[in-house]
Amino acid sequence: NELRQDPTLENTRRQVFESCFSLVTPKKTANPKLIHVSKEMALTLGFTEMDIKSNSFLSIFTGNEIIKNSKPYAMCYGGHQFGHWAGQLGDGRAINLGELVHQQKRWAMQLKGAGETPYSRTADGLAVLRSSIREYLCSEAMYHLGVPTTRALSIALSGDQVLRDVLYNGNPAYEKGAIVSRIAPSFIRFGNFEIFSSRQDYTTLKTLVNYTIRHFFKDLKEDDKTSYINFFKQVADRTLTMLIHWQRVGFVHGVMNTDNMSILGLTIDYGPYGWLEGYDDGWTPNTTDNQHKRYRYGNQANIGLWNLYQLANALYPLIEEAEPLEAILENYKNEYSIRYLKMMKSKVGLFLNEKSDNELLNRLEEILQLTETDMTIFFRKLSSINKTDTNEVAISTIKDAFYQFDEFEGAILDQWMDWFSAYLIRLQKEVLTDEERKEKMNAVNPKYVLRNYMAQLAIDKADAEDYSLVEEFYTLLKNPYSEQLEHEKWFAKRPEWARHKVGCSM
Ligand code: AMP
Ligand code: MG
Ligand code: MG
Repeated sequence: NELRQDPTLENTRRQVFESCFSLVTPKKTANPKLIHVSKEMALTLGFTEMDIKSNSFLSIFTGNEIIKNSKPYAMCYGGHQFGHWAGQLGDGRAINLGELVHQQKRWAMQLKGAGETPYSRTADGLAVLRSSIREYLCSEAMYHLGVPTTRALSIALSGDQVLRDVLYNGNPAYEKGAIVSRIAPSFIRFGNFEIFSSRQDYTTLKTLVNYTIRHFFKDLKEDDKTSYINFFKQVADRTLTMLIHWQRVGFVHGVMNTDNMSILGLTIDYGPYGWLEGYDDGWTPNTTDNQHKRYRYGNQANIGLWNLYQLANALYPLIEEAEPLEAILENYKNEYSIRYLKMMKSKVGLFLNEKSDNELLNRLEEILQLTETDMTIFFRKLSSINKTDTNEVAISTIKDAFYQFDEFEGAILDQWMDWFSAYLIRLQKEVLTDEERKEKMNAVNPKYVLRNYMAQLAIDKADAEDYSLVEEFYTLLKNPYSEQLEHEKWFAKRPEWARHKVGCSM
């Protein structure tokens, strides 16, 4: 069958060997319509306002037109999912359109939800409006929070209906199909390396490592074992940096499988992610992970390490020495403690070093969980406390952060009072003025994040063809650390109706 031998015309699901990618053609859409474009991202890529409004922009970023001389492709990768090797996965609903170089920066452009690929397995290669809005808004918000992340350029309706669920009465529940264009220097994941190693295809593994070094780790050499060790070291470092940022802003990824770990240390795959409302180590937005809570907030750094072990195993055949890899993994743990403490100290405005700091912060993490305490509001309001305040004044400054302040037991209130007494004594040792400390704290404690219910509100409106909240949140979250009085209503606790609601991944 001649047609089947041409990979550009052939999207059949299959195992793909000795190849890092397969050429694919995006699906033509019924009635594509742009909902929103990230102007910041568009400018970074060198697009003008005219470009964004052009027909070819719409056609290209919905998969209806191929960029001249480009060859769209889907990548082959594997992964450990929830602790188990899952074999070949690959870009089942992501298609790389090509790369663009602007101001010496190289960007890969990818469509998510543009149809099936050889890696689609049993699924349809499509995405729905709901999950696409969540990815679009959150990835741009993360960027503006200063968290390493893949970006989003545009979100569009495909005009097609997508089947995601069958109702209890047996009727199919169709949802609006959508396509997000995502941007990153590269979308290569840990799983891209794991797949070749698992198949003992060390030739392709080496080709991929060399390629990655050549383009993204330019201070390193290709074809060199020491360089490969340093490559792993840099990946471990970038991964840790990303995870500390997640902890800082209260982001819970939800599916930290190795196929969702970027080799560049970027937050990738915005599926069932969520934001901490009440501070809670044990919280995960992923309802399929509710029993073991493997990917809970308090476990993200451990999982980062576990995933790095898998990457180390995958790279080992090219290095053939375990010790340097083990040393890097060991160092990750030490580095984590040091950097986590420094980050938490910056959140509470402590910049000098005192022996008791670790204990003060451990204690804070405990009592934050005794009361249901909104993470974002707590840390943001903490910056308004003055060194000379009493603990009563301090508590009244942050009390809006408690979900049920009136129901406090006396004993819990006492614990808060004790903590603030210790904190205020500790603050005396800082040399910064209250104003200076406040400014520094407000630069690491966002005022606005994409709370889970906010994304849901934007989705509900968009479903009724009203995209005003997509625009409002996009604008709001461009300046998450600034006071934006016209948006003050989003600096508020989650409303009661949204208590146990989180978004879905598919
Ligand atoms: P995820 O859990 O989102 O990281 O996805 C795991 C794997 O399933 C990846 O290979 C995805 O490309 C694939 N996948 C997820 N959703 C779809 C879909 N709707 N169609 C095809 N493949 C999918
Ligand atoms: Mg994924
Ligand atoms: Mg996903």
